[in-house]
Amino acid sequence: MTDTKSALITGSLGGIGFATAKALAGLGCDITLNGFAGADIIEACLAEIRALGVRARYHPADLRDPAQIADLISSTQQAHGGLDVLVNNAVVRYFGAVENFAPEQWDEALAVNLSAPFHTIRLALPGMKAKGWGRIVNIASIYGLFATVNRIDYITTKTALIGLTRAVALEVARTDITCNAICPGTVLTPAIDWRLRQEMQRDGTTFEQAEEAFLAIRQPSRRFVKDDNVAGLIAFLCGPHGADINGAALPIDGAWAAGR
Ligand code: NAD
Repeated sequence: MTDTKSALITGSLGGIGFATAKALAGLGCDITLNGFAGADIIEACLAEIRALGVRARYHPADLRDPAQIADLISSTQQAHGGLDVLVNNAVVRYFGAVENFAPEQWDEALAVNLSAPFHTIRLALPGMKAKGWGRIVNIASIYGLFATVNRIDYITTKTALIGLTRAVALEVARTDITCNAICPGTVLTPAIDWRLRQEMQRDGTTFEQAEEAFLAIRQPSRRFVKDDNVAGLIAFLCGPHGADINGAALPIDGAWAAGR
């Protein structure tokens, strides 16, 4: 990148979001972090980004609230001279069969996983158009491409997020703005680590056995996708060679989708 860009990654105090923040800082972007965590974690994340030689700030917006999303976008534009790279990464996940699924959890998942990207994009696009350049990356999932049981909120919102991506991509197709979706397979983030530890306890297995059983019914590679590799793919889309990729839903999944 030639001039300094401003990047916002939602839900970026750990996991794929923080890996992405570091990758975009590596491209020279000033970074805005967001998400829920204690003050010590926020400070440690900011320090790690600043050590890469860029500016870093944190905004505590609760993405369930459109007014807080509006402040997240406008304050980022003011603090970092615009918003050039938008990564919609934050997520909530609940588990359960549709007939037992709590309506309030459904509403929250729609708000965070789908409506928040709609709001961030609608608010960021005018500034990107005025500058004549922008990159939007929506973190969907392999579960945006096919379904599984007991995850009605996740499957529905990730599938719709790919539709949102395609619709936005067509609207910006004649500009230097792109909008793509990433569809990771299973990445060993804290959320997945927690699930494996639950399964260890339930089944009385070691972590390695739980990991093997978890991957055996998912990824033909039999290994987790690395969060740094997801971040690297996002950085590629935001770099100079990403310009002609628009409206894609890109799997990064150890051949999981290939076998469906
Ligand atoms: P994570 O659970 O570690 O992080 C989610 C983040 O979202 C957290 O920082 C949390 O604070 C934030 N968040 C939740 N509700 C929020 C709200 N109301 N307002 C603001 N922030 C909020 O996530 P992860 O596992 O790193 O996944 C990141 C993205 O990648 C998600 O979109 C997820 O669906 C996708 N993904 C992950 C995997 C995986 O295996 N981990 C696989 C496929 C797709």
